[in-house]
Amino acid sequence: MYQPFLLQIIRNIDQNDSAKKNMLWVFPTLLSIDYFQQLLNREELHNNRFSCCTLHNMMSSDAKMAVLPKLFLLKELHAVTNLILNREVPFDQFYAWGTTILQDFNLIDSYLVNPSNLFSACIQQKKNETSLAVNHAILEHESVILHNLSTNPCSLSSLLEENLPLIYDAFTKKMIQQDYGYEGLIYREVLDGDLPEKLTRYDQVIFAGFNLLTPSEKKFIEKLSTIVPVTFFWDTDTYYIDNPINIAGYYLRKHRETEVFRKSFNIDTNTHFNDLNKKMVITEVSDTIAQIRVVIDMLQEKTDQGACKHPPHKMGIVISGTALFIPLLNALATLSIPLHFRFNYPIKATVVYLLVKKLIAIWEETAAVKYTDNTLILSNFTASLALLQPLVNEEIQTQISSILTYPPTHVSDLEKIKLGEFGLWLNEHKTGLLNFLEKILTFINEHFIESDGLLLSLNKAVIHHLLEIIPSLKVRYEENHSGLSLLNYLQESSIPFYQNNPTTGLYIVDIAASHNLNFENIFFLNMSEGNFPKVAPSNSFIPYHLRNSFGLPLEDKKLESLTAYGFYRLLQRAQNAYCLFTSRSESGAPNEMSRLLLQLFYNSKLKITSQKFSVHYLALPKPVISIQKNDQVMQLLARFLVTQTETSSSLTPSALISYLNCSLQFYFSYVLQIKQTVATKDQDITVQLGSLLHEIMERLYKPFVGMEIDAHIITQLKSKVKIEIQTVVSDVSTNVDHTVKNAMLLVSILENFVKRILALDDANVPFKLLGVELGKDKPLVTALRLDTERNVQLGGIIDRVDEKEDLIRIIDYKTGDSNHKISNITSLFDRAQIKENKAIFQMMFYAWLFNTLHRTEKQKKIMPYLMHVKALFVDLATSSICIQQPNGSKEYISIKDIREHVEEFEEGMLRLLSEIFNPLVAFTQTEEREKCVYCPYIGICQRE
Ligand code: SF4
Repeated sequence: MYQPFLLQIIRNIDQNDSAKKNMLWVFPTLLSIDYFQQLLNREELHNNRFSCCTLHNMMSSDAKMAVLPKLFLLKELHAVTNLILNREVPFDQFYAWGTTILQDFNLIDSYLVNPSNLFSACIQQKKNETSLAVNHAILEHESVILHNLSTNPCSLSSLLEENLPLIYDAFTKKMIQQDYGYEGLIYREVLDGDLPEKLTRYDQVIFAGFNLLTPSEKKFIEKLSTIVPVTFFWDTDTYYIDNPINIAGYYLRKHRETEVFRKSFNIDTNTHFNDLNKKMVITEVSDTIAQIRVVIDMLQEKTDQGACKHPPHKMGIVISGTALFIPLLNALATLSIPLHFRFNYPIKATVVYLLVKKLIAIWEETAAVKYTDNTLILSNFTASLALLQPLVNEEIQTQISSILTYPPTHVSDLEKIKLGEFGLWLNEHKTGLLNFLEKILTFINEHFIESDGLLLSLNKAVIHHLLEIIPSLKVRYEENHSGLSLLNYLQESSIPFYQNNPTTGLYIVDIAASHNLNFENIFFLNMSEGNFPKVAPSNSFIPYHLRNSFGLPLEDKKLESLTAYGFYRLLQRAQNAYCLFTSRSESGAPNEMSRLLLQLFYNSKLKITSQKFSVHYLALPKPVISIQKNDQVMQLLARFLVTQTETSSSLTPSALISYLNCSLQFYFSYVLQIKQTVATKDQDITVQLGSLLHEIMERLYKPFVGMEIDAHIITQLKSKVKIEIQTVVSDVSTNVDHTVKNAMLLVSILENFVKRILALDDANVPFKLLGVELGKDKPLVTALRLDTERNVQLGGIIDRVDEKEDLIRIIDYKTGDSNHKISNITSLFDRAQIKENKAIFQMMFYAWLFNTLHRTEKQKKIMPYLMHVKALFVDLATSSICIQQPNGSKEYISIKDIREHVEEFEEGMLRLLSEIFNPLVAFTQTEEREKCVYCPYIGICQRE
């Protein structure tokens, strides 16, 4: 067992310094202080008096200026910028630029760079680049563009760049006058004045466990050392500090070279790093969530005597970023272990953020005198209630359930709804956005569910934060606020989120805030390359090489050094270290282990064990969201049952596929009918292509329904392809990504696709066209008997039906990738295979539907015919669906007639429908998290 670094210092000081002293301990993070204090409590030292603070606190607590929230800073910066540019750049447009400018200003001040010199160098470099790269004609053109700032963001960028010296000057002066600022500016101001008198009352100031120190921090410490004795303790190991190419020791080596810190590095440091008794295991897991399974399993391991093998208070879990945080908390909640953590949790990953987003959308629609998009209001309203329901008390939950039982189908339905002062929700009083949000958030706050659940506390904290900033926003800035800038702000903001059990708790830490902590057993999660260290975003007006010459940090290098230091430092005193990484990312791309792990393999003497862990999905923690099918949910589901009195809705193949994919997704999409409002992968060019292709094929073939199609007609159709494509693309251009480049690309791909389909049809003439888009104008529905009382209505739209010789072909056009082989009909209902089989499921459903409706009239074979357009470029004869021959044969044969498989297909359908309508089977989250990556409900599910 190694002694923790801080304990080593405490004992060292206590033994060597018998005189009673008043000491101030300064730490890099609040988490270090928590850890330090619990060590102190255990030691029960009474020789000295200890006070603790963070360096930031020490530097800013007595400053004349206070830190202004970022949104307010941006508002001030925006006003100054507009004045200097003599333009009215809208705040929404300015927001992103302003954020970059603020970051740059903060860096300049924290690193004590002379702003005039830096900005002159930036402008000079820009001039050099421009004179090299841009000829006179282009410059003339540019001057014309500069007139239209609001439509040309590049011009705005150049103009801002040129005026940065003036903006910096005016903005910082204004801030100093108002006694407000950002961190860097406050530090600069602090360094210009005298240090607070109160610091002299300490006998000694001890700095423990620092790594990176900015020039302003260093200067502050130098100044401090002139009024009070200052001692430094660096947490390091010769393994990386004495190796000039090991990046973990980069900042410490730099400190060691400076006059002010040199002496403090003379204290002998033991090396624990390469201890051969240390156990290190690197585990490759199949997916992100399986890492949590490994941790949970180890926490449950027992010794032969039945004691916990890995006591939580001796264990730390390191996560890089907050992506795994919520799933980890959910899993740990099942073990009822006390936790200790301090995170700045991103507001955008909370339910309240999503709710506010919906509320803003409702406000934007209802703020107008006359509602323009009722569907949007209804959809956002239903989604808001679904998001709100888990946050509020039972009384409001019941009210929401009864509203969602019969979701409003028209805006006039909303008037009958009772939910608090309901008019608020539709902004009947036409108030500004901030008033609107304040009233609704106050209502939610007053009815917030009583619970000590972590996630609910987090959401409540976000509501409190919003209720806190809204009045200040209203006071400081009277003008109307747009939803976009508020959302931008929330997207980038975080909220302190903590659990306070420093002595008994299992620590969960971010690698960036792990200074001074030591654990006997340590887990590092998500150690894949690109994630550990993370790839740093680098928006800046300061060019890369100028950063270097002005002593500003290069973000990627800084992050790499800090992560490496955090990792190696935690390893050096751990007894057992478990590093986990996934073999593939959430999107399915292959992953490699972090370079920091690879380095250990080659450079350290550690005994490293590698292993693979594959998780059985059924063994994963239980889904967190589970919707029980109570009476109200069953009533919603009853919409799909055939009744004598009411018109039923049909379950389509898409709905059934959605259920097989994730039953909760089906609930959101088809039961609650929450519209998909998040951009998904499926809204990319492939889907645009798919819907446009269907439209074009319908237009081409519709005039010939009922006719025999021959070579002559196909030639006629070929001649119309271009014009139909142009018409369809321009008709639907509002729904399509219509940049010129994309429109041209779409037209070109569509032309190739349509020509290929017509080539296939040409090869099959003559055939009789029975119909196109069947079910579009007149519903194509049938019912399947579930039990004696319930018949489920099923329906859909069939792309095309034609008749060739003894075959009726049920045709579906597919533009995306799809499988065309199945092992048997039952496999179509297998959740694990639905992703690959969805096109075939759909096709078989349509063929079955057509057969059910026409089985008495037609005696011909009914063939499911999948026109997989991309495959047609390789082989015109790949349109059939193939099924494996029974009796274990490896041979596949084409399905020529659905009637041979109807019985089996209906059995599968009945099993599936019985589950959907079974009140005892809840709608739950899928355990295959990769399915969530492109799901529009990922936010509601907290699986981002
Ligand atoms: S995010 Fe995942 S769990 Fe939630 S509905 Fe979508 S697929 Fe299901």
